[in-house]
Amino acid sequence: CGIVAYVGERDAFPLILKGLKRLEYRGYDSSGIALLEEGELNIYKKKGKVADLELQNAGKELKSTIGIGHTRWATHGVPNDVNAHPHYSNDKKLAIIHNGIIENYASIKQNLISKGHVFFSDTDTEVLIHFIEDIQKETGHCLEDAVKLALKEVVGAYAIVIMSVDHPGQLIAARKGSPLVIGVGENEFFFASDATPIIEYTKNVVYLDDYEVALVRDGKLTIQNLDNTETVPYIQKLEMEL
Ligand code: GLU
Repeated sequence: CGIVAYVGERDAFPLILKGLKRLEYRGYDSSGIALLEEGELNIYKKKGKVADLELQNAGKELKSTIGIGHTRWATHGVPNDVNAHPHYSNDKKLAIIHNGIIENYASIKQNLISKGHVFFSDTDTEVLIHFIEDIQKETGHCLEDAVKLALKEVVGAYAIVIMSVDHPGQLIAARKGSPLVIGVGENEFFFASDATPIIEYTKNVVYLDDYEVALVRDGKLTIQNLDNTETVPYIQKLEMEL
C-alpha cells in the first residue's frame, strides 16, 4: 500500500520509518523495512502499526544509508509478520517492496517451485522477486535487465523498489498502475507512493510513468522503459507545503 525507500548519506531506518508514518492515512495491516548493514540484507517487519515496528526495533543500532520500507494492505496472504514486506529472493541477495497485485503469480510460482525455489510467504510479491532472481541466474543479465524481463511477463499492477546486496549504492524502481514518486536530492534519492514523505528533504521530484524502470546508481538517476529506451528524467518542483 505505501512505499518509502532511500539511498544517500543519511541514516535510512529512522527516515524510512518517519516516511511510512506519513503514509499511514492510506491504511495498512503491517509494515517493514529492509536495510543493507555491513554487506548483509536485514529485514525488520511486523504485523500491526508502524509504531509497533518502531517499538520492536527501539534501541537497536541500525546503521545503514540505504533501505526500503513498506506498509502493506494484504491482497494475497493473510496479514501476519511473514507476509509483511519486504520480501527476498531465495539467495537472500535481493529484497523487494510492492504495491499492487501480480495477477499471474500462481503460474509463475508453480514454475519456480518446479525449479526448486522455496517460498516462505503466501504473497504474490515474493513470487516476483524469486522470478527476477531466476531470470538473472538463467540469462546472466544484469539486475535491471532481469527486472525488465520479469515485468514484461507480469499481468497486474505494481509499484516496486528493489535493493541488492551485490549493489550497495543502488535502488531499482518500476511502476504500472500504482503511483511512484522519486525525490532527487544532493547525493541522495527518495522513492515513495506519494510526495508526503519526500517534501521535507527536497522539492525536486520525478513522477515515474507506467512501464518505466528507474535506476539509481553512483548518485545518478536513469530511467528506461521495458524495451531499454532511455528517457531523460523530467524533474518537477513540488509546490505543496508540509
Ligand atoms: N499484493 C501484495 C500483498 O498482498 C501487496 C499489497 C499492497 O499493495 O500493500 O502482499
